[in-house]
Amino acid sequence: MELFSYLEKYDYEQVVFCQDEESGLKAIIAIHDTTLGPALGGCRMWTYASEEDAVLDALRLARGMTYKAAASGLNLGGGKTVVIGDPKTHKSESLFRALGRYIQSLNGRYITAEDVGTNVHDMDTIHMETNYVTGISKAYGSSGNPSPMTALGVFRGMQATAKTIFGTDDLAGKTVAIQGLGSVGYGLAEHLKNAGATLVVTDINEEALKRAQTQLNAKVVGPTEIFDEECDVFAPCALGAVINDDTIERLTCQMIAGSANNQLAESRHGDILHEKGILYAPDYVINAGGLMNVADELEGYNPERAQKKVDSIYQIMQEVYRVSSEQKIPSYQAADHMAEARIESLRKVRSTYIKHAK
Ligand code: NAD
Repeated sequence: MELFSYLEKYDYEQVVFCQDEESGLKAIIAIHDTTLGPALGGCRMWTYASEEDAVLDALRLARGMTYKAAASGLNLGGGKTVVIGDPKTHKSESLFRALGRYIQSLNGRYITAEDVGTNVHDMDTIHMETNYVTGISKAYGSSGNPSPMTALGVFRGMQATAKTIFGTDDLAGKTVAIQGLGSVGYGLAEHLKNAGATLVVTDINEEALKRAQTQLNAKVVGPTEIFDEECDVFAPCALGAVINDDTIERLTCQMIAGSANNQLAESRHGDILHEKGILYAPDYVINAGGLMNVADELEGYNPERAQKKVDSIYQIMQEVYRVSSEQKIPSYQAADHMAEARIESLRKVRSTYIKHAK
């Protein structure tokens, strides 16, 4: 991999390699763009097949955070940490404190949070060395589990998508097929049930399915059958790349709105959805509720203010669809354009010199 060519191609600002032999820390902090504010993004811990895979993952995820924050109207940039190691066996106090000190050394350019393989306890350990960490224990003023806010955001985004395609945001009587009844998917199912929607659900976890059947009167289908179910809305809330060459021909829905990251296997699948008239809610916009919630911690967490922000996903989604229809481009491209336009318009504003107190 030609690292600097890659950084140049996608405009990365900084990559920090963190090494501490005593604790076994091997981490990469990637900072993509801080035009809008400090780079906020989670800390992922994973056993990567190679160091190159780890670097690429950090870079790709950091860039994704830039777009997500920009499209969400947050004053944050994009960054991500990747820790190389098995989260089950390689964790220690010294490892996360060593990482915390590296984060502190960036003096606020990067703020971390939980991600795959890390948890509140790890964030608390990082917090011993730096304040540039969110998602710590509630006792320290944290926002707690982000999933309920993510679920609320997806619900609001689904309403906005329905308004665009059906002319009403009332989901009563609509059939929604949900793939994945985890922290976000189940919360979304509850919102939909309360709104009068009919639910078809799938998961690989029998317990979650039973609960949805008994408590939400949901119809249960197998994991591969969900794509063939007659429905108005398909809500991917489990895995990435579920909109692909195989599934796209099977879907009968008029809109796709769910929480999963990277739903389109390739961007051309977004073009195909556009051609087929299936309205796609860009994943990083509709699933930004958790980020909005955690970002509120930076101002001293206020749940009402955070919820208001999450509610704004409705208006942001409407704006995405307005841009998409005006510019005659697929919705996923419209979201990218909006994010890039916001960064560019503020880059100039923020370049005006202001003397900072020492
Ligand atoms: P989770 O792990 O709690 O839930 C995922 C669910 O999907 C589980 O119940 C799992 O059994 C199920 N699942 C796994 N493979 C499946 C398959 N092949 N078919 C059907 N179901 C399957 O995760 P979550 O926190 O609910 O997140 C769901 C998705 O949303 C993920 O893609 C995640 O990256 C994304 N997301 C989550 C948040 C958040 O705040 N939690 C924020 C943004 C994006």
